[in-house]
Amino acid sequence: MTALADILQAEITASGPMRLDAFMAACLMHPEHGYYATRDPFGEKGDFITAPEISQMFGELTGLCLAQTWLDQGAPNPVALVELGPGRGTLMADALRATRGVPGFHDALKVHLVETSPALRARQADTLSAHAPTWHDSADTLPALPTLSIANEFFDALPIRQFQRQGDGWCERVVGLAEGTLSLGLSPKRHEPALAHRLEDTSQGDIVETCPAAASVIDALARRIGAHGGAALVIDYGDWRSLGDTMQAVQGHDRADILAAPGMADLSAHVDFEALADAARGTCKTTRLAPQALFLSRLGITQRAEALAAQMSGHTLDAHHAAFHRLTGRDEMGTLFKVMALYPEGAAPPPGLDP
Ligand code: SAH
Repeated sequence: MTALADILQAEITASGPMRLDAFMAACLMHPEHGYYATRDPFGEKGDFITAPEISQMFGELTGLCLAQTWLDQGAPNPVALVELGPGRGTLMADALRATRGVPGFHDALKVHLVETSPALRARQADTLSAHAPTWHDSADTLPALPTLSIANEFFDALPIRQFQRQGDGWCERVVGLAEGTLSLGLSPKRHEPALAHRLEDTSQGDIVETCPAAASVIDALARRIGAHGGAALVIDYGDWRSLGDTMQAVQGHDRADILAAPGMADLSAHVDFEALADAARGTCKTTRLAPQALFLSRLGITQRAEALAAQMSGHTLDAHHAAFHRLTGRDEMGTLFKVMALYPEGAAPPPGLDP
């Protein structure tokens, strides 16, 4: 049993079953034993690999997308360039390198990173030392400025709640104890006014998920974009209105049981983009949801891939082809991952996305 499992069991014994969002928050961000708080999980040797770690093209193209948005909005100075959950800092480093030639952009921008993991902050400080980033524990403390932001595989790490439909009410899924080990259970049935719209598209026994933290992050970004301009790119796996249990644990590139080793496995859930759009409504606009493959191809990934390939051979070239396929393939991240942007009323959406 992991140290964190002991701590959680003691908490449940003292205070009763725990909501899934509290369980997920502890597993990912417990200061001593949390998955992200203590390690760098990325890469072939880690537990999983993300788009910016697969190829430099991902950060280059998303960076250029934000720089073009900045130009389209009249090149405001100063501007905050923000990343939420920057991991190793690879995406931001690639974005900054690719946009060096955009006149005035680097003079106008200041880099802000929203990151709670001390281990990953240290890693980001190494990668981005030339750009003197400012770190934030949450989006609430970002400056009141035009804000260009990107979040790749950030929202999927935010803690979720799950509810199971029972008649016209809902039982919340909670973590309790059975025979001395962590076990999933259901709380008594309640009416959940926030889930009224889900009575239309669910039936008995269906599970729906909510992510309270996601709405508050979107609110913080939308307020800045609505008042000062900019845009926010959200890239993640998920869909418009999720249905069913999408919470998964991954350890060593394989699926694991979410309760088996708290703090040792990555936990994530599909992003419900409809809920993100709802949280922005009335403050700024949101684009239509686009598959990652469409977004990257509109930004010119094929041309960029060809230009890079021209200088490669042997294994490097094979790996480059494989990376291109992984980012854009139909059976790969190309369709599983979706992109949505927040942008101000009266402005054009960021390149690659539709209003
Ligand atoms: N964007 C990176 C990393 C994705 S993993 C990439 O694509 O490679 C998720 C990132 O979000 C990690 O950096 C993790 O430490 C951070 N994170 C998770 N939950 C967070 C929270 N509640 N607040 C801030 N950062 C968080």
